[in-house]
Amino acid sequence: MGKIVNYLNPLARLGVRRYSIAFPLLFTLFVYSVSEVYSNVIVQDPRIVGVYIILVSIGLIIFFAFRDGILGGYISVVVTICYYLYIILTRYSGTDSFTPAIQTTILVSFLFFVIAFIIGWLKEKIDILIEREADEKRRLLTIIRQLPVGVLITDAHGTVVEVNPKVKELLDTEVPPGITIPTLKSRKSSDASSKSIVQSPIHQVLTHNQSVIGQEYVVDHSDGSHLHLQVSASPIHNNKGQVIAKAMIINDITQQKEIEELKDEFIEIASHELKTPLTTIKGYTQILERLIDKNGTNKASSYLRKTNKYVERLATLIEDLLDVSKIQAGKIEFHYEEYDFDKMIEETIHSLREFNTTYKIQKKGKLKQPVYGDSARTEQVVTNLLSNAMKYSPDNKKVLVTVAREGDMVEVSVQDFGIGIPVEKQKEIFSRFYRVESTAEKFSGLGIGLYISAEIIHRQGGEIWVKSKEGQGSTFYFTLPIRAKEEQ
Ligand code: ADP
Repeated sequence: MGKIVNYLNPLARLGVRRYSIAFPLLFTLFVYSVSEVYSNVIVQDPRIVGVYIILVSIGLIIFFAFRDGILGGYISVVVTICYYLYIILTRYSGTDSFTPAIQTTILVSFLFFVIAFIIGWLKEKIDILIEREADEKRRLLTIIRQLPVGVLITDAHGTVVEVNPKVKELLDTEVPPGITIPTLKSRKSSDASSKSIVQSPIHQVLTHNQSVIGQEYVVDHSDGSHLHLQVSASPIHNNKGQVIAKAMIINDITQQKEIEELKDEFIEIASHELKTPLTTIKGYTQILERLIDKNGTNKASSYLRKTNKYVERLATLIEDLLDVSKIQAGKIEFHYEEYDFDKMIEETIHSLREFNTTYKIQKKGKLKQPVYGDSARTEQVVTNLLSNAMKYSPDNKKVLVTVAREGDMVEVSVQDFGIGIPVEKQKEIFSRFYRVESTAEKFSGLGIGLYISAEIIHRQGGEIWVKSKEGQGSTFYFTLPIRAKEEQ
């Protein structure tokens, strides 16, 4: 039964060539035979086969041209012409109508062939397009099924339409196609279950229609292992901008995380180990400096001052590395107190002027009121911004510091006229270990100063950003809440 329905359905593509010849031939013959039986046997008036047969013929030709392409259309045209000739020969032979009937048949045949060709050609083109699309889909599905990341695709309403085997492997649970993912409110990555990993990003995409990028989860597997998963999801739009599907990618970053943890652990241990002997060296050089000042030569004390300067720099580097480890482990501590903001800025500038006498640091503006926050940590940020301003301005020795009140925040800017930062790198410079490649070779550094500064500012409720033009210099800004002590 299904097969018969398929034969009669012009949209069903049987794809077997012999059906394209046999079915139009047999079906058209059948229809005309029924017509003959009806007119000759049932009604017994052969002339009843008139205009209606032309309509039936057009219907048959269009139907077969659309169903089987040009060939199907032509076969039904040929059968139709044969039937017309049979009618003319049996009913009009020897009459005056014979010649005009033959002429009309020739004209109508020509028209039928043109109709069959146009419709058949269009149908074949549509078939090719459908075939191409199906091939494309097959190709895509094969790739998706073999991808080393989990891929889950839902329709616009969250019903799973495609899911590759990796999803089950990563989530340790089956997400069969056809199920609708119930949406739930976004959860913290710490209380992740396999369900929430799928639901939360899809929910976010559904409600906000925005992509979720790199959300991290830890999922416990039944064999006792824990996987670190990174999930991204995004809506897929059609030409009109309507959401037609949602795709989710689940990436196993367990190994990467383990390596990162090992690296962080190593940095922490190494910095601790380096710190102890360095403190001792610092102590001894200071004693030596005092001794030499009394009895030594100028040269010796100058060498010692230089040694001290480098020991100081090394100590700062180690402190920075330790800070990075603390930030990573969430252990960085803040000591809040009320402090004189203007004095802190002045003293920081003063010690940097002493450290580097070739640069001219100018200061504009004052806050004229205390700030509640971590003075030492904020000083660390100002020192970092000023050191960078000097380091990355080898040809222009001017640095400008401004302090201003912006509502209930204090805003500080540090401007230099040095090498500047390319626009596309400006967001990245606050990332851990990031250095602009074009300048990394010329200037020494670890790429952690701005990362630490950003953490210090954000943790105190402020913002940090940069405005810069390559070749013309950079201005780093940060804000901090002023907050009176009572407000805390
Ligand atoms: P480091 O200076 O040790 O490399 P930072 O985290 O302080 O690390 O800075 C990150 C990167 O940002 C630097 O490597 C440099 O490329 C860029 N950068 C920072 N400050 C400036 C500045 N004032 N002018 C130009 N580039 C800068």
